[in-house]
Amino acid sequence: MRKLNTRRQWRCMNKLLCQVCGGPAVDPESPLIPWLLTKTVFERTGLDSGRTNAPPTCWNCVPTALEQCPMLRDDFTLYTVRSVETAGVLANLYRPGIFREPIPTAHNVFVPWDASRYHPRTLAVAKVLELHGMKHVGP
Ligand SMILES: [Zn+2]
Repeated sequence: MRKLNTRRQWRCMNKLLCQVCGGPAVDPESPLIPWLLTKTVFERTGLDSGRTNAPPTCWNCVPTALEQCPMLRDDFTLYTVRSVETAGVLANLYRPGIFREPIPTAHNVFVPWDASRYHPRTLAVAKVLELHGMKHVGP
């Protein structure tokens, strides 16, 4: 999941599109959003909330994702999500070297939108959403 195409990841997160088929992930009947998560792409922030860089997966594609994604074979939890809020980015951080060349200082760290002092040294690699109203569905 960390190797998901950056442009596709942002598009899926911005428009709540399924990361497998690219169609709308929101259940038209509920309107909850099914979300398959692994421990490596999820950080709990409250009893029913947490942050992730993994896009949602529509109900139709959940079986396909479970069948074909090696990360999900080892560990997954299926939730429904009531709403989302943009939280920041996963990013690589840099500092200027002696000749102003970029020197890497951190890899794949969460940078919130309000941490503006880090922004000049941040190269975003994935958008992070905060999920609200999470309900455990399975397994
Ligand atoms: Zn889908």
